[in-house]
Amino acid sequence: GGPLLQKVRRPCRTMILVNPHSGRGQALQLFTGHIQGMLTEASVPYTLVLTEHQNHARELVKKADLSQWDALVIMSGDGLLFEVINGLMDREDWQEAIQTPLGILPGGSGNALAASRNDVMAWNEELLLSCGFMLCKGLVGSMDLVSIHLASRQRLFSFLSIAWGFVADVDIESEKYRHVGAIRFLMGTLVRLATLRVYQGRLAYLPVKEAPKHPKGTPVDSLLPGLDQPVPESWTVVKEEDFVLVLAIYQSHLAEDLWTVPGAMADDGVIHLFYVTAGISRPALLRLFLAMEKGAHLACGCPHLVYEKVRALRLEPITPQGMITVDGEMVEYGPVQAQIHPGLAKLICG
Ligand code: ADP
Ligand code: MG
Repeated sequence: GGPLLQKVRRPCRTMILVNPHSGRGQALQLFTGHIQGMLTEASVPYTLVLTEHQNHARELVKKADLSQWDALVIMSGDGLLFEVINGLMDREDWQEAIQTPLGILPGGSGNALAASRNDVMAWNEELLLSCGFMLCKGLVGSMDLVSIHLASRQRLFSFLSIAWGFVADVDIESEKYRHVGAIRFLMGTLVRLATLRVYQGRLAYLPVKEAPKHPKGTPVDSLLPGLDQPVPESWTVVKEEDFVLVLAIYQSHLAEDLWTVPGAMADDGVIHLFYVTAGISRPALLRLFLAMEKGAHLACGCPHLVYEKVRALRLEPITPQGMITVDGEMVEYGPVQAQIHPGLAKLICG
């Protein structure tokens, strides 16, 4: 990940939030088996907090006395970090709160951020150990967040992705295979391929080169008009309205074995927008996902796959029912728009 700015104060008081139900339900055992000793050895004082229900971490972080903590670390999948980030952004003092260094120890079945922080491909225990070492070193860099507006006027903050169509369906449908671990996405992909669908909607985006410089660390979504207003002239409106998938991603990996954006950095200030238009054959779509393991999908020469670097986007589904996910979590279905906020959060990486 990007330039290293500072070091977490040491000895650093770390809150480690564990979702015991994430992944194959072994996050706590993985922590005690692989991480606990490492932290003791490195003299990193920590407090372990087990989450008891969904949104527990979000509520906890929203109310926490942050002067007590030098870092917030989650041991789970990406979903728990999504809770923590939104809990920080819910606070009145969010501008200061979101400066708290965040860390991730992969314990879930979807560990995209952990995979993105690693320069080499690693899985399971190997990835966990590598993230444990990062935590001991305590180097901190910046991470972009994306502000997302939904039809109900709810605003969310996202560190990973927005997905609609094939990817969102696989994400949610494969949760029932969580017990098999990260391979759930491959299983979900094969099942969804058999029932491949077309999703209708309108997509528009603000290309990187057209976007004005956005000041760092501001809360204002200066690039976005109201969701009920037309998109500005400077935006590109995609002429196709029949899609197989739309995926906006701002980390390099969508999953441990999906290297979606080989060049992406956590703080590159870019939303990497991919879409696949209708008409792609099942074998061609499968080839794209298999090639993605090596980051080679753009080299497949598939005419249905489009990739753009953007600063903001809007998606308006026409298909009346469906699923949209943000960081792998299902959100309200309907029109959605988003813009990047460069370097808004701090991430333990390196
Ligand atoms: P996984 O990668 O296995 O999906 P996540 O970290 O994404 O792991 O967590 C899955 C879901 O569980 C998320 O929606 C998260 O908010 C929720 N969650 C967090 N803690 C708990 C808990 N104690 N019990 C049930 N669900 C939880
Ligand atoms: Mg998840």
